[in-house]
Amino acid sequence: MARIVMKFGGTSMAGSERIRRVANIVRRQQAAGHEVAVVVSAMAGETDRLVGFCREANPLYDPAEYDVVVASGEQVTSGLLALTLQALGCKARSWLGWQLPIRTDDAHAKARIGEIDSDALLASMSAGEIAVIPGFQGVSEDNRITTLGRGGSDTSAVAVAAAIGADRCDIYTDVDGVYTTDPRIVAKARKLKYVTYEEMLELASVGSKVLQTRSVSLAMKEGVRVQVLSSFIDDDATPADEIPGTMIVSDEELEGLDMERQLITGIAADKNEAKVILTRVPDRPGAVATIFGPLAQANINVDMIIQNVGRDKGETDVTFTVPGADLLRAQTLLEAQKEAIGFNRIITDGKVAKISVVGVGMKSHAGVAATMFRALADRGINIQAISTSEIKVSVLIDEDETELAVRVLHTAYDMDAKDEAASA
Ligand code: ADP
Ligand code: ASP
Ligand code: MG
Repeated sequence: MARIVMKFGGTSMAGSERIRRVANIVRRQQAAGHEVAVVVSAMAGETDRLVGFCREANPLYDPAEYDVVVASGEQVTSGLLALTLQALGCKARSWLGWQLPIRTDDAHAKARIGEIDSDALLASMSAGEIAVIPGFQGVSEDNRITTLGRGGSDTSAVAVAAAIGADRCDIYTDVDGVYTTDPRIVAKARKLKYVTYEEMLELASVGSKVLQTRSVSLAMKEGVRVQVLSSFIDDDATPADEIPGTMIVSDEELEGLDMERQLITGIAADKNEAKVILTRVPDRPGAVATIFGPLAQANINVDMIIQNVGRDKGETDVTFTVPGADLLRAQTLLEAQKEAIGFNRIITDGKVAKISVVGVGMKSHAGVAATMFRALADRGINIQAISTSEIKVSVLIDEDETELAVRVLHTAYDMDAKDEAASA
């Protein structure tokens, strides 16, 4: 008998029929003798719809009230899955974030999980009840509803798995594993049987949607065994243990598997960044600190930063990127600090995309960036900003060129599946 956390994403939960399919997958695990907790997302598109309402109500919305609104999507699906399981004859109940509770900090809209009280959960599971937990939500110290940032149900699942000491955390989604790049963009993407925590962390942090970044870092820290697999399988298919998805493994484990290591593990695209340019910032010590200090205080993550060479002596342009969702807030903050920072104009562009290539092999291999720049240049794709880490190179380009860039790079690094059945 194993203790398993199963997480189902938005596409898997979109509508009664799909929820019934999910209930059957869950029931099969329980029938195999396992103790099961399920973490669910809102129905596909629902969170976007709710975010839209918040923006309409108030473009500079209060994140605490935003959380009250957007957390509701998962409340609906957790209740519906419990009902559907009951209809199949299973014992099941929902546990909302505040009921367990799942404690988080008070950074609304991007809260971090602190502690999960697992006593009630464990008691219910050992009594044969399937616990259904809405992902994405928690409760702050002062008892306000919080959410974990987009894609946060993955993190809820890993956190629950860590709290109850689960043997496995299975992330069911609408693709059957982690691929070399988004299989919806590149039909010749290859499925990875194994990927290391470190590589997955980097891939997630540069925009591979398949797992939320924090879910990977938490799994790495807590040693949670994570597997990504598809919920779109036939009702009479083999149980999850035998379905080949992608297993997230440690470096040592991968070495034991004796796999041939690729130079590049994957390519990711992120359209959710926005570019900000501040023109004619005084070129003196402390100027940059006056820009980024207030943004940090407002919990706005700055990613790429470039300080351009000034056109005039004593002045410089500063370019950086922030999450698209924070652009308006960042702009408002910076306008308010215009005098203190001393810039001339603020120019923003939400139509950019960050394309990144990731691979541990880069540590010991030169020329990865050069190949990237050459391949993009050959297609006339202009690079607006560059950033690198030990195992990643990222470039900022025009959003309209995202798909082309990803395809071109996938081919340039010789990653296309050789299978003739795959077509671009
Ligand atoms: P869920 O709703 O199940 O959480 P997401 O939409 O968050 O699903 O994540 C799954 C999606 O991630 C896939 O449909 C795919 O388009 C996208 N994706 C991006 N990069 C990758 C990748 N490298 N491997 C697999 N899927 C990826
Ligand atoms: N429903 C939330 C979102 O769309 C959380 C999740 O699905 O993981 O971001
Ligand atoms: Mg997701």
